[in-house]
Amino acid sequence: MTAAVDQLNRPLRDLRISLADRCNFRCVYCMPKEIFGSPAHFLPSEDTLTADELLTVVRAMAPLGVHKVRLTGGEPLLRRDIVPLIEGLAGIHGIDDVALTTNGSLLTGERAHALRSTGLSRITVSLDSLDPERFGRINGVGFGADRVLRAIEQADGAGFRPVKINVVVKRGMNDEDIVPLAEHFRFSGHIVRFIEYMDVGNSNGWTPEEVVSAREILERISGWWPLHALEQAYFGEVATRYGYDDGGGEIGIIASVTQPFCRSCTRARLAADGRLFLCLFANQGMSLRDILRRGGTEGDIQDAVAGLWQHRSDRYSERRGRGDTPGHRIEMFQMGG
Ligand code: SAM
Ligand code: SF4
Ligand code: SF4
Repeated sequence: MTAAVDQLNRPLRDLRISLADRCNFRCVYCMPKEIFGSPAHFLPSEDTLTADELLTVVRAMAPLGVHKVRLTGGEPLLRRDIVPLIEGLAGIHGIDDVALTTNGSLLTGERAHALRSTGLSRITVSLDSLDPERFGRINGVGFGADRVLRAIEQADGAGFRPVKINVVVKRGMNDEDIVPLAEHFRFSGHIVRFIEYMDVGNSNGWTPEEVVSAREILERISGWWPLHALEQAYFGEVATRYGYDDGGGEIGIIASVTQPFCRSCTRARLAADGRLFLCLFANQGMSLRDILRRGGTEGDIQDAVAGLWQHRSDRYSERRGRGDTPGHRIEMFQMGG
């Protein structure tokens, strides 16, 4: 089986898997509590892909070029079978990188060690503010920033170094946290990645004025500690990397809105209900769960995904605001952020 290439000549390399659409946080930019208060918004467990189904899908996609898998959600650590699942994923021929993005709330030292010993390669923890009151407001459930900092330490202690720390920057929400977060993680060995606030889903009320551009983020940090650009680590890397001139480590900035990187987008996304999406802003996906539950084989999944990827021409972020992009979109926590 040859690797799949889409209409814009982009290879399929990465699969992001939403292990659960549920979450114990209600971040204002992702799952605002005013809208997602009731359990009715989330999948019944029987509609969620089982670990065996997930492994079949990844086994089918590896020969098409997928070598990297990121587990996300919703909150992936809500999934009780995550440890055996990672063990299964890490053992699939062709998969050389299994990573996890989490809000850190359920990442104890014991869990971090279990994840490490079963083959998880990297952990990203999201943390938007060090200020307890502001962070509690952003995550919607009053969760303490100190507890997320502890989770980062636990991940470090289990051998995940560097830990990447995701910070969504939204004007008026946490732009005053950019410099304190950068300062906190300088010389720590970890990498903070500032992410431009995106118009994902339909519920966060996004406006362009609330986006703090990569350029502004860079200016604010380099006003304190001069930075220099670093080389891209690999094709398709979404973060632009910068190093502190004084040796304080590096940061990343993800400029999905002001400097879209659709041309090198090699990612597909598997929602918790088994729908495969080819763009974060898609409004339609193909149900691989239906194929499997109708008795389809690994080969059937492979053929379906290969056909889908070959026809892909998505480039939402490059077309944003031009009036020809999907109106109603799937929420980010459903398809896997
Ligand atoms: N619950 C986990 C977490 O928060 O890390 C994993 C899922 S979350 C959807 C994945 C990442 O998407 C997080 O780092 C989150 O901050 C980011 N994210 C969510 N909504 C976003 C938005 N509107 N714009 C930019 N990034 C967003
Ligand atoms: Fe949950 Fe992550 Fe979305 Fe926050 S960003 S609500 S932690 S899925
Ligand atoms: Fe990839 Fe879609 Fe994001 Fe463009 S907008 S980088 S195609 S996920």
